[in-house]
Amino acid sequence: MRPDFREYIGCIHGHSIYSDGSGTYPEIIKAAQEAGLDFLLMSDHMTLRGRDEGYTGWHDNLFVSVGYEINDRDDLHHYLAFGLEETLPENYTPEQYIKAVKAKNALGVAAHPFEQRDKKKSVPGFPPIPWGNLDYPEIETIEIWNMMSHWLELTTIRNKYWNAVHPRSVSTFPPRQLLKWWDKANLGRKVTGIGSVDVHAMKITIFGLFTKAIFDYKIMFKSIRTHLLCDAELLKTTDNSTTESTIFKLIRDGRTFVSNYRWGDARGFRFWAEDGDRLLQMGESGEMHRPVLKAVLPKKGHCRIIRNGELFRKGPASEIDLQVTPGVYRLEVLKGKHGWIYSNHIKILGDK
Ligand SMILES: [Zn+2]
Ligand SMILES: [Zn+2]
Repeated sequence: MRPDFREYIGCIHGHSIYSDGSGTYPEIIKAAQEAGLDFLLMSDHMTLRGRDEGYTGWHDNLFVSVGYEINDRDDLHHYLAFGLEETLPENYTPEQYIKAVKAKNALGVAAHPFEQRDKKKSVPGFPPIPWGNLDYPEIETIEIWNMMSHWLELTTIRNKYWNAVHPRSVSTFPPRQLLKWWDKANLGRKVTGIGSVDVHAMKITIFGLFTKAIFDYKIMFKSIRTHLLCDAELLKTTDNSTTESTIFKLIRDGRTFVSNYRWGDARGFRFWAEDGDRLLQMGESGEMHRPVLKAVLPKKGHCRIIRNGELFRKGPASEIDLQVTPGVYRLEVLKGKHGWIYSNHIKILGDK
C-alpha cells in the first residue's frame, strides 16, 4: 500500500543582498515561485534582516522561512538556524550555537560539513569551510548535497569558465565522503540528510568582457531540492510559526528526500518498509518480523539500496518490493550517470 502524503518541494540555503547574494527578497521570491517551489528556507550570513522585514510567511503558494547562517570567529563551522527570532551572540563557539539552536527548538543544519579543495588546482580566494568534527549529538540534520559548495570543490583554474556557464552539470553526485559519514552515523543515532542550493547568484566578469550571474536563483531552484512528506495540508490560515514548526519537524524526523531536478521531477517518489499492517517511513525505526522494503519511483531509474552503509542491491527499476532482514536502509536512484534521488534512512530492528 503506497503511503498517502501531501508532498511539499522546496529549496534550502539562500543568500540575498543582506549578505553576499546578489538578489533582493522580492526578486528571489519571484524566482522561487516561477521555479514552482512550495517552500524556501533562506539563510543570509549572520543576519535575520529578511525576517525582521517580514518576509517569513506565505507569498501566494510559496512559504518562506527566513533563518540565518552562523559562523564562528574563524569563519568556520557554518550552521544554518531556522526559526529563531533573534540572532545569537556573535562570539558563541560552535558548541554553544548548536546547543542554543536546539534549546530554542529551532532547526539547525550543519552546512557543507566536509568541504575540501585541491590545493594546487582550486580557484584562489575561496578557502574550504568544513566542520571537521561533526560528532555533536545536537547536530540532527546535515546537508548531504550542497550544490554551491560541491561546485567550488570541483572547480579549478582550468575549468572555471566552463563550470560557470554550466553550473548544474558540475556536481553530479553528493560527495562520497559525506554519504559515508552519514550512513555510519545513522547506524547509531538518526541524522537527517537534506539537499541545499546555497545560492548566491554571484556576479562575475568573464574574460573582462561581460558580467554574468553564475548560479542564478531560478536556475539553482531547478537543481537540488528537498521534498517533505506531510500527513496533512499546510494551511495558509495557520500562523507562520506553526507552519515553520511543521516543516522543521518533518525535516528533523527525516520524513524527507533529496532530488536533483536537473535530471527529472522526483515528485511522487516513496520509500518505506512494510510488515503486514505495520509501516515504517523514512526517518523511522521499529521492530519488524518479516520486513519488506518498498519503493515507487516517478520514472524508471537505476536503484541502489544501501544497507548499513554498504551497497546491498542495485539495478534498474520503477518499483521495489523486496523481503529483507533487519538493518539500516536507504535508497538512491541514478538517472543515467547522475545522482537523482536520495532517501533518508529507515531503521528496521529484529523483533524479540
Ligand atoms: Zn556556508
Ligand atoms: Zn551559505
